[in-house]
Amino acid sequence: MSARHPDDDARWRPWRDRPLVFGAPTIGAAERDEVIACLESGWLGPGPRVAELERRFAAYLGAPAAVAVNSCSAALQLALAALDLPPGSEVITTSMTFCATAHAIVHAGCEPLFADCDPRTLNIDVADVRRKITPRTRAILAVHFAGRPCDVAALDALAREHELAFIEDAAHALEATVGGQHCGTFGAFGCFSFYPTKSVTTADGGLLLARDPHVTERLRRLALHGMTADAWSRHDADGFAHYEVVEPGFKSALTDFAAALGLHQIDAIDERWQRRRTLWRRYEEELAGLPLHLPAPPDRNTRHALHLFTCLVDDTRTSVTRDEVLARLHRLRIGTGVHYRAVHLHPWYQRTYGRRTGSLPGAEWVSARTFSLPLSAGMTDDDAADVVRALRLVLS
Ligand SMILES: *Cc1c(COP(=O)(O)O)cnc(C)c1O
Repeated sequence: MSARHPDDDARWRPWRDRPLVFGAPTIGAAERDEVIACLESGWLGPGPRVAELERRFAAYLGAPAAVAVNSCSAALQLALAALDLPPGSEVITTSMTFCATAHAIVHAGCEPLFADCDPRTLNIDVADVRRKITPRTRAILAVHFAGRPCDVAALDALAREHELAFIEDAAHALEATVGGQHCGTFGAFGCFSFYPTKSVTTADGGLLLARDPHVTERLRRLALHGMTADAWSRHDADGFAHYEVVEPGFKSALTDFAAALGLHQIDAIDERWQRRRTLWRRYEEELAGLPLHLPAPPDRNTRHALHLFTCLVDDTRTSVTRDEVLARLHRLRIGTGVHYRAVHLHPWYQRTYGRRTGSLPGAEWVSARTFSLPLSAGMTDDDAADVVRALRLVLS
């Protein structure tokens, strides 16, 4: 039954009119209207809409305050900058992440030390983090992979024991909680992304939380060139207001134009999460017999943000490789993603840190087998049926 030459087999003809785009955002009328209203207001830069977005996200996340920035990459860089680490400090992170997580460490003048991931949960392996702590280690930067909370209690305890800063890359984890508390609020810093594939988008944007309110004020300044007052508050002041530069900051603030796109999506977060849960459960049921490792069930007392439905090809049960799965799904007009090729395997990281990193068996095993299925809230039931049909065909 197995189709040895898929190109010649009629069953392999794509039946969809349009490709199913991986990670397509959902933009409604409220978003469109707010963007137009912002354009008509004459104020596009950081201003009242950013302040409103920050208030609403802080409330959603249960944080005292939030700083809107122009990407999660910027949030990570600002968090590390605010730690004022001496050059050459080490920051332990996971290799199973987007490259921006590790780049932020490099840009802060520090050395990324990669810990392995648990091949079942795809989250950072806390025991390996412990093994990798040296006298030069200053921080742990963990990722809530695919929206599954990592072991925040163990990581926080380890960080406290060794006086390290604990930073959460919560780019996948807006909706994720542990014991009812939002991911991104456990560490000294929490970093979120509003990139188009993420569950809320401002096209590009991000959010930064700090546990210490004094640090929040500094982050606000650091995100705006290190200036004491932004243009909106100076515009609002009686008479002309000067600003002062108190440290060399970055150009990382979010604009009102971008915030306008995100503002109303906050009201839809839960509804969209519910929709992804329906799609998730359908995938779990209908893909159960295939030679795949499906996402591990969430831990008790946690909420998974359901950002990525990552499958691992089980090569003990099929000879179809991961790259063949990607190519064939693409041919059938089903978009996919690879999250991720392990960061330490990329050429620059190999060249620069390869010798020190050595091999990370868990991350390398996942890296060779993983692919992610479309899971946008805007997908129809027919879209999901197409994904299942295509995957059954590809792996039959
Ligand atoms: C998307 C992502 C980032 C970067 O987010 P940007 O907003 O695009 O800068 C960082 N880390 C992880 C894990 C991500 O998925």
